[in-house]
Amino acid sequence: DVESVPGVPSWLPRHLRDGGIETLYPPQADAVEAGVTEGESVVASVPTASGKTLISELAMLSSVERGGKALYIVPLRALASEKHREFEQYEEYGVSVGVSTGNYESSGEWLASSDIIVATSEKVDSLVRNGAPWISELSCVVADEVHLVDDPNRGPTLEVTLAKLRRRNPNVQTVALSATVGNAQEVAEWLDAALIDSHWRPIDLQTGVHYGQALHFDDGSRTELSVNSGEKPTAAIVRDTLTDGGSTLVFVNSRRNAEGATKRLGSVTDERLTSEERDQLAAVATEIREASDTETNTELARAVERGAAFHHAGLSRKSRTLIEDAFRDRLIKVVAATPTLAAGVNTPSRRVVVRDWRRYDGSVGGMAPLSVLEVHQMFGRAGRPGRDPYGEALLLANSHDELDELFEKYVWADPEPVRSKLAAEPALRTHILATVASGVANSREGLLTFLDQTLYATQTSDSDELQRVTDDCIDYLLVNEFLESEREDGAQSLDATSLGHTVSRLYLDPMSAAEIIDGLRGASDVTPLGLYQLVCRTPDMYELYLRSGEDEEYTTTAYERETEFLGAMPSEFEQARFEEWLSALKTARLLEDWAGEVDEDEITDRYGVGPGDIRGKVDTAEWLLGATERLAGELELSIAPAINTARKRVEHGVSEDLIGLTDVRHIGRKRARRLFEAGIETRADLRNADKSVVLGALRGRRKTAERVLEQVGHTEPDMTNVNPSERSRPETEPTDTTD
Ligand code: ADP
Repeated sequence: DVESVPGVPSWLPRHLRDGGIETLYPPQADAVEAGVTEGESVVASVPTASGKTLISELAMLSSVERGGKALYIVPLRALASEKHREFEQYEEYGVSVGVSTGNYESSGEWLASSDIIVATSEKVDSLVRNGAPWISELSCVVADEVHLVDDPNRGPTLEVTLAKLRRRNPNVQTVALSATVGNAQEVAEWLDAALIDSHWRPIDLQTGVHYGQALHFDDGSRTELSVNSGEKPTAAIVRDTLTDGGSTLVFVNSRRNAEGATKRLGSVTDERLTSEERDQLAAVATEIREASDTETNTELARAVERGAAFHHAGLSRKSRTLIEDAFRDRLIKVVAATPTLAAGVNTPSRRVVVRDWRRYDGSVGGMAPLSVLEVHQMFGRAGRPGRDPYGEALLLANSHDELDELFEKYVWADPEPVRSKLAAEPALRTHILATVASGVANSREGLLTFLDQTLYATQTSDSDELQRVTDDCIDYLLVNEFLESEREDGAQSLDATSLGHTVSRLYLDPMSAAEIIDGLRGASDVTPLGLYQLVCRTPDMYELYLRSGEDEEYTTTAYERETEFLGAMPSEFEQARFEEWLSALKTARLLEDWAGEVDEDEITDRYGVGPGDIRGKVDTAEWLLGATERLAGELELSIAPAINTARKRVEHGVSEDLIGLTDVRHIGRKRARRLFEAGIETRADLRNADKSVVLGALRGRRKTAERVLEQVGHTEPDMTNVNPSERSRPETEPTDTTD
C-alpha cells in the first residue's frame, strides 16, 4: 500500500493514487523493504516496463524530503527531456527539477537551486570536471539503464562518473536501474547496494517464434495464423493483431528497412481505419509536414495517414514525439523501428515482432546477432497493462531448424552478464586526464587506487592488464604535454598542464585535442572548410561513410582545395588513413553546404542522411569548433576570430553576412535570409525597421515578430494594429532551425 511507505513526503500517496497507483508493484515493494526511501543503495534489475521509474522517484523524493539533492543520470540526451517532463509533475509540491543538456564547458551553476537534476553521464562527467559546486551536495544518485556500462563507447563514462561521485560523496545513496542481466549481483557488489533481482511483470508476456502458419510460444502453445497468398509473415501478424484491435511494434535493423517495412505494412493498416481515425491521422500528418519539409518527413507523413510509421534516429525530435504519442493513443497501428526505440521510450503495444535479429556491425565487418539482453528488452515492450489482456513478442523463422535455433538462442536464453569496457584505450586516456586534472589522483598509484573502485576492478582478478593500459595512457598524455610529471623521493607525481586542464574542461578526447593542435600550429590562414575538415577527422566526430565511387569524387576535391587543409594530408598510398581523411572531407563538405545555406532537403539527398543526422553533425561541429577556438587562444594563435566565424556559420547554417541576424532568437537561417533580402541586414537595422517589412519576412507570424522586435529593443513591438487580417493566423514555434 502506498500509504505505508516510510520516508516519503506526506503528499505523495495521494498524488500517486490520483495517478492510478494504489499499490506498489512487487519489485517496488522489495525496494522499499530494502530501504530505498531511507537512504539505502539499491540495484533494481527488473524487466522492461515493470515500474523502475517509480523506484527512483521514491528514492529521490524521500532524499529531497530529508533536505538533500538528487541526480538522475540518463543514457541518452533525448531521454533527459523525457524524464524532465515526467518529474515536472512534482513541481506543484515545491520540488524543483532542472535538466542539464547542451554545452559541456560550463559548471551549470543555476542547477544549484534544483532539488532534482536530470543529465546524461557525459554531462555529469563534464560538470565534475568543471567543478560544479553542487556536486558535493548530492545525497542521491540514480543511474538509469546501468547495464549500458557494457557499451564500448559510452559505458566507461558512466562507470567512471559513478566511481567519482561515490568517491566525492562517500555517503551518497546510489540507485541503479537495470534491465534483467546475467550478473546483477556483481553490479550490486560494485555499488555496495542491495539487490532487487526480479522477473515480475505487470502484464503477462508470451514470447515465441513465428514459423509457417503458426505462432509458437514458450509455454508450448500455438496460435494459428491465416496468411494470405504472397503475404510476408510480418504483414500477416500485423493484420491478425488488428482484427483484435491491437497494435504491433516491429523491430528492424536499419533505417532503410524501417522505411521499407512501413511502406508495405501501411497497406495492411490502411484498409482497416475508421473515418474518424483517418481524420485524426491526417491531423498528425499535417503537424509532421509543418515541422519540416524534408523527404523523410514527407514520406513519414504519408505513412501516418495510412496508420503506419517508422521510427529511427534520423527523425527530428518533433516527428519522433508525434509518432510516439500517436502510437500510444492507438492511432498509429504499426511502427517499424530501429533498436533505439527499445531503450527508454515507453511505447507498449499488443505485439512486438523482432523481424531482424542480426544487424550490421562495423567491428566485425558483417552481420552480427543481437544480444539476448537487447532482444529481451524489445520483447518487453509487448503488452499494455490495463489495456491488453497480455502481450506477445515474436521472432520470425524461415525454416524448422531456425525455429529451434531461435528458441535456444533467444526465447529460452538468459541475458548476458554486463562487462566493463573501461580498459579500452580511448576511454582510459580521456578519464585518466580528467581524474588527474580534477585532483582526484596525482600519481600513478593514486590513479590505480581510484580505478580500483570501478566495475572493471570488481570484475577482474588480473590487475596487470589495467596497469599496462594505464601506463600507456600516461605516456601518451605526457608526450602530448597534457600531463607533466616530477620525481620526488623516488615517487612519480602527476599533474595536468594548463593545456591539459583546458582539454579536460572542454571535454575533448585528448587524441582529438592533439590532432587539432597539430593542425592549428603553423596555420596562418584558415578557411571554414579547412577547419571543418580538421574537426571532422578527430575521434570525437562520427564521419560519414564514403559510398562507392565517392573516393574518386572527394580525392578530386582534396587536390583542388589542397591549400585549405590544416596539417599534413596522408599519402594516397596509405590507403586506410587516406580514406578516413576523405570521409572527414565528406563530412566537412556537408557542414560547408549547411553553412552555405543549401536546403536541408538537398543536403539529405546529397549525403544520404536524415535531418536528425544533420542536426547531430552540426551540434558536434559547433562544440568542436568552440573547443578549437579555445585551444587557439591557449596557444596564442591569431586565428581565433576566423574560427569563431566558422563556428557561428555552422551553428546557424548561414553565410557570414547573416550572422548578426541569426544571433537574435527565433530567427533561423531562412527567416534571416528573407529579412536580409528585404533590406534588414543587421541587428541595428532590425531595431529601426518598419514593422510591416519584418512581419512580411516572418511570413505573417505576428507573435514571433513581436518577440523578435522586443529582443532587439524596437521602440514599439506591439503589432496589434498591423494588418488586422493577419490576426487569426495560428502561431506555431519553429521546431528546427530552417524556419
Ligand atoms: P520501466 O522504467 O521499468 O521500463 P516504467 O517505470 O516506465 O517502467 O513503468 C511502466 C508503466 O507502469 C508506467 O506507465 C507507470 O506509470 C506504470 N506503473 C508503475 N508503477 C505502477 C504501480 N505501482 N501501479 C500501477 N502502475 C504503475
